[in-house]
Parts: sequence; C-alpha cells; structure tokens
Amino acid sequence: MNYLNCGQCSLWDRMGGLIMGKECIQRLAKTSLELLDVLEKMEWSIPAGSDGARTQCPKCFSFKYSGHRPDCTLDNLLKNMSK
Ligand SMILES: [Zn+2]
Repeated sequence: MNYLNCGQCSLWDRMGGLIMGKECIQRLAKTSLELLDVLEKMEWSIPAGSDGARTQCPKCFSFKYSGHRPDCTLDNLLKNMSK
C-alpha cells in the first residue's frame, strides 16, 4: 500500500482511506488554485514572429492559433485542473 502523507495527516478510517486534516485540504486547494493561475499565465508565454504578436506554448512549442499538440502535458494539466 502506498502511504502518502504530509507528516500531519496520518489518520486512517476503517475502510483504509486517508483522512486529510482540514488545514491540509485547505492548503491543497489553495496550492492548486495558485498553480492553475501560474500554468494559465505560462500557457502561451513565448513570443514568436518578428513582432512577437504570435505566441507559442513553452511545452509543445505549438503556436496559439493552431492549438497544443495532442500530447502536450501543459494542455492536459490545464484541462484536468479546470474541470
Ligand atoms: Zn502545449
């Protein structure tokens, strides 16, 4: 069994699931929102073209007008976090 904890959440319920402490859930939610904000700012952050008007993804290097490559991990992360 994988044992994942922060050193503070270490209680297990009778079904074997991890019970997270309220502060840990709040910290996880806050961190996720901050990460989402950073990732959204990174998404099309590479200027391209002579005037820098076109932008590229820093992960798959596709241009914004053509969209991410299907296997772009940044795109997949953003989609998963925005659900
Ligand atoms: Zn991409």
